[in-house]
Amino acid sequence: MIIYKFGGTSVGNADRMKQVANIIGDEKQKIIVLSAVGGTTNKLVRLTGFFYTQKHDEALEIINLLHDEYYGIIDNLLSTDNYRAQATLFIDGILELLLAQEGAEFNEKNEKIILAQGEIMSTTLFHFYLLETGANATLISALEYMRIDEDGEPDIEKIGNLLNPLLEQASDKHLIVTQGYICRNVQGEIDNLKRGGSDYSATLVGQAIKAEEVQIWTDIDGMHNNDPRVVENTYPVDYLSFDEAAELAYFGAKILHPASVLPAREAGIPVRLKNTFDPAAFGTLISASSEPDKVKAIAAKDGIIAINIISGRMLLAFGFLRRVFEVFEKHRTSIDMITTSEVAVTLTIDHTNHLKELIDELNTLGTVMVEDNMSIVAVVGNGAGGSSKVLSKITAGLNGYAVRMVSFGGSQNNISLLVPTADKIAVLKSLNNHIFD
Ligand code: ADP
Ligand code: ASP
Ligand code: MG
Repeated sequence: MIIYKFGGTSVGNADRMKQVANIIGDEKQKIIVLSAVGGTTNKLVRLTGFFYTQKHDEALEIINLLHDEYYGIIDNLLSTDNYRAQATLFIDGILELLLAQEGAEFNEKNEKIILAQGEIMSTTLFHFYLLETGANATLISALEYMRIDEDGEPDIEKIGNLLNPLLEQASDKHLIVTQGYICRNVQGEIDNLKRGGSDYSATLVGQAIKAEEVQIWTDIDGMHNNDPRVVENTYPVDYLSFDEAAELAYFGAKILHPASVLPAREAGIPVRLKNTFDPAAFGTLISASSEPDKVKAIAAKDGIIAINIISGRMLLAFGFLRRVFEVFEKHRTSIDMITTSEVAVTLTIDHTNHLKELIDELNTLGTVMVEDNMSIVAVVGNGAGGSSKVLSKITAGLNGYAVRMVSFGGSQNNISLLVPTADKIAVLKSLNNHIFD
């Protein structure tokens, strides 16, 4: 079975939903994972912000925007009175549910219920459309099988145990539509796989059912060699290994959710990145095979914080780094980059959730300095990570920029650089010229 995932732009309006139906056809059995209509999750995030701050009028404005947008989609998507009436009733119900979350007690549970409605709306409307066109389709709610554990990580065993029987019941259906992004947590409450999580849903479903392939359909013709939003003349990379794709996703290539390659890599399932607006384009094939010694792409991740610890006690001592790492472990904070000298160590982290506690404890080990507004730029390619030739090109490209850290030799796949976010775009452009020309 093949899993097809379509992102927000791909299901952005009624015509695009029709295009999705054309791409998938109605022949063999397949699972179709959909994101919310593009822009909807952002609107829902804003709505939750207004509910937290009890701004009723602003909240109502968002609900009215959604009302008009979804009524418009129904109008252009569905043509029979029966399905139009069902769809209108359904959207009215969702809008009421959104409004019902409002109140002085508004909390994270209400927030997550609201955030889930985007995918619930897109899949339900798309399912109505498929039925109206006579397709052999069904809708399976991700809330019935997608599960995360107490750490917020997907529980793959449970997902498989819940999903496989649902698929057996639907064995006579060809098009199985389901939501990306949404799930339930260990308390059984509605939760999600974080922003951009529909990619992750698709590969998790792939792993749970041992799919033949996962296809991620989006608005661009595959993984580009650099960030196309800020660098000109980027081009799609035809082939990536799982490791390369996982590093690019983790280090900020927005086309893939940071963790989405991991289930595919674990299960050995190829992932194809395809363009909904140019289905004939090859896209990118992510698989176990790799082409050696080639830089494939550059990506960048923002929101990085560097923590520098200087301690005379580190000199000729053993066990110092262990004590540093224990502090991070205790506060469940993972480290991305690390460089050390005899008397100092600098580490990077990508969130501030426990920053104060971390610093307070690290202060007992040495003098601590924190720098924020940093970005990691990752140059990725199997073998290229350990190549001094690549390193010298990078060095030439970095000339004139304030590089804070360089990580070379830790991984065969990746050379990472820490730069101020203010310099990130210029660095991406300069590296592009030096590495790919
Ligand atoms: P979807 O809504 O389909 O999930 P996303 O917006 O999450 O789509 O991801 C696709 C976007 O990722 C592209 O439009 C592009 O702007 C951005 N992007 C960032 N880095 C890359 C890259 N290296 N290659 C391709 N796209 C990238
Ligand atoms: N709709 C969610 C988001 O915008 C999930 C996704 O699109 O992948 O983050
Ligand atoms: Mg996405």
